[in-house]
Amino acid sequence: MIIAERKPIGEILDMIRDCDRVLLLGCRGCVTVCSAGGEREVEILASLLKLGRKKEGRPVEIVEGTLVRQCDREYIAGLAQWDGQYDAVLSMACGVGVNFIANLRPATVVFPAVNTSFFGGSATQGVWTEQCAGCGNCILHLTGGLCPVARCAKSLMNGPCGGSQNARCEINPNVDCVWQLIHDRLGRINRAEQMLQIAPIRDWQSAGHGGPRQVVRDDLIV
Ligand code: SF4
Ligand code: SF4
Repeated sequence: MIIAERKPIGEILDMIRDCDRVLLLGCRGCVTVCSAGGEREVEILASLLKLGRKKEGRPVEIVEGTLVRQCDREYIAGLAQWDGQYDAVLSMACGVGVNFIANLRPATVVFPAVNTSFFGGSATQGVWTEQCAGCGNCILHLTGGLCPVARCAKSLMNGPCGGSQNARCEINPNVDCVWQLIHDRLGRINRAEQMLQIAPIRDWQSAGHGGPRQVVRDDLIV
C-alpha cells in the first residue's frame, strides 16, 4: 500500500491561513490502513485545526468528509455534494488523490495534509517499511523476492557494494543491507548461483525517468 504521514500541524495551518471554510477530506484507501488519513484522522485533524485557529483569534469552519477513494474519478465526482461550502479542500489522501482532485475539479483549491512516503507494508505495530519503488520492470524473480531498487540505498543491481558492516547498510546502519538479505535468502532457497549472474545496465525509463507513466489495458477500454 501507499504509506503516508500527516504533515506538521503548523504547516497545515499555514496552508489554510486565508480560508474561512475548509473541506477536510479523508480517503478510505491506503491512508486509512496506515492511519494517516482515514475518518479517524479527519476527526482529529479537524479538532486540531479548529483549536489552532481559535488560538489565533480567527476561527475556521471545517466540513468533514471521507471518500471511498480519492484516486478514482467516480468518487471525486461525489465532491459536488459539498460545492459552495468551502474555500479549499484539504486532502488527507496520498499525492495521487490530491492530483486527481486538481485534475478533475479545475475550480477547486486543493492542499495536501499528508506527506506521501513510499510503497510499503506494516513491519510491526506503528512501523511501516518501504518494499517497492514502482520501477515498472520487476526483477524480484532474480533477487529472491527482495527488492534492491527500493531497499538498497544505492539501488544497486549488482550488490552488495562492499560497505556493509555486520549485515547493516553503510548509508543507514539502522536498516539491513538488502544485498546481504538477498545473498542469504538465495542460499536458503537453493538459488545461490543467481548471485553470480551479472545484471546488465538497466534502462530506467520504466521507472519514470522517461516522464510520467501510464498503463493502458486495451481489453478494458470501452
Ligand atoms: S523491482 Fe521494481 S517493481 Fe519489483 S519490487 Fe522492486 S521497485 Fe517494485
Ligand atoms: S550496504 Fe547494502 S544496502 Fe547499503 S548501499 Fe551497500 S549494497 Fe546497498
